[in-house]
Amino acid sequence: MKAFLVVGNLKMNLLTEAEGERYLGELKKAAYGKHLSGVQGVIAPPFIHLYRFAHLPTHFHLGAQDMHWEKSGAATGSISSSMLKHAGVEYVLLGHSERRSTLGETDALVRAKVDAALRENLVPIVCLGETREERERDTTTTVIARQLEATFAGLSLLQAEKVIVAYEPRWAISTSGTGLIPSTTDIFQVKVFIRKWFTEHFDAKLAERVRVLYGGSVNSIHLGSLSWEAEMDGVLVGKESLFPRELVKMMEMAERHIQSLA
Ligand code: PEP
Repeated sequence: MKAFLVVGNLKMNLLTEAEGERYLGELKKAAYGKHLSGVQGVIAPPFIHLYRFAHLPTHFHLGAQDMHWEKSGAATGSISSSMLKHAGVEYVLLGHSERRSTLGETDALVRAKVDAALRENLVPIVCLGETREERERDTTTTVIARQLEATFAGLSLLQAEKVIVAYEPRWAISTSGTGLIPSTTDIFQVKVFIRKWFTEHFDAKLAERVRVLYGGSVNSIHLGSLSWEAEMDGVLVGKESLFPRELVKMMEMAERHIQSLA
């Protein structure tokens, strides 16, 4: 069975070396002595902290928040898949809604990055989800189908299985300011739709295997209703991931849930 994933997206925070060190220290303290057999953590710090975060506590893996689609060359201000690999990165977030909405990242660009990540043996975590207007117009599944098509068309079964999908309704992300979160049923319906899409475009086995995370205002209070109760395979956490003890608490809660099923 694949581990339940708790992915922390630290975004553009931890502004100084000292803040980076403090975060790491707190994470190590919080994670010390924890036995988590069914849960895995991923921390995606800002690029400038990647080497500092190379030695994370047990149960944690290093992630990055984005990357360029080329391996090297004339791309001022960018980080390549190869650079991430050398820094010890295993997972990379791609197509985060903040990049799609403020930097104009298109589905095609995200797809080029997915291909580049797979070539470098990095695990892409592709963020997708509808805006509030799209939900109100009842076009959520149309938007998700379009994003899935752009991400997965032409991939082999083997490649597709390596990609992780993060369903993040944009209106539920804490910085959207709506204060809204989806119900378990809302999330479950999207999960069912995603599973059906994979069954139709690949096969039923892959549909079961592809990991689908939920992201958007996740905290320890809503963790269960936003993830396992909706049959999600993990969570992508923004704001709350800035508090290492909260992150580890969520991992322990997920572990208890998994153990309760055993
Ligand atoms: C995100 O931006 O990916 C995210 C999930 O943020 P938050 O948890 O703060 O809503």
